[in-house]
Amino acid sequence: MLRVYALSCGSLEFEKNLFFPASAAGERIVAPVSSYLIVHPKGKLLFDTGVHCDALADPVGRLGKRVASLFAVHSRADEGVVGQLAALGVKPDDIRYVVNSHFHFDHCGCNALFPRATFLVQRTELLAARAEPKRYNAKDWDLPLDYRECDGEHDVFGDGSVVLLPTPGHTAGHQSLWIRTSGATQFLLAGDACYTREHLEKTILPTNTYDAAQMTESMIKLRSLRDRQGVELLYGHDAEQWGAMPHAPHPLI
Ligand SMILES: [Zn+2]
Ligand SMILES: [Zn+2]
Repeated sequence: MLRVYALSCGSLEFEKNLFFPASAAGERIVAPVSSYLIVHPKGKLLFDTGVHCDALADPVGRLGKRVASLFAVHSRADEGVVGQLAALGVKPDDIRYVVNSHFHFDHCGCNALFPRATFLVQRTELLAARAEPKRYNAKDWDLPLDYRECDGEHDVFGDGSVVLLPTPGHTAGHQSLWIRTSGATQFLLAGDACYTREHLEKTILPTNTYDAAQMTESMIKLRSLRDRQGVELLYGHDAEQWGAMPHAPHPLI
């Protein structure tokens, strides 16, 4: 039986037009940063690792001038992936797999804290991060970690319950995570393939989009999973959805 927990990793505050390009300049929004723990009989898996805690005390030093000028990082003392896991009695070394949806700073910032885990990343994301370092922050991902390069869909535990699903476009090798429980419940952790429900409903492409055609295709795929297969989509940065769902230490399922 699977257990899934939504872990709060703080929030980001930024100009709304980064998410919604039609918005006027000057309007700011706050979006949650999340990570998910999946407890499977064969091991514990973490989906994304949030923002590194150094970004709070020294945003420019950790994130670089450009990103620090765009995003204000907020985090309470009880937020952050390691603290959230500790509240569940889980230590970083207990994590068998880390899935990085992609290598942006708010999704892999704490990778270094899981040196014993196997990291499941799409090969195209690793290649893009190596080829275009300015799009990423090497401090987050370029570390002596056990990265396993995945090509396309990958059934993590071999039983169909936790499957990597490529959803490129936001970045070159973005992936989402499809969770199928023994019951009828299915979740898809969308990551930044779709920031919010509104993006999906209106097919809104954010300002920071790597490949617009690919991202549109990925959103069509997500919509189809939701509407034809009853999959519940958990969007990457949807404040309204996040506020309405149970968070750790309470399980999502
Ligand atoms: Zn991103
Ligand atoms: Zn993000």
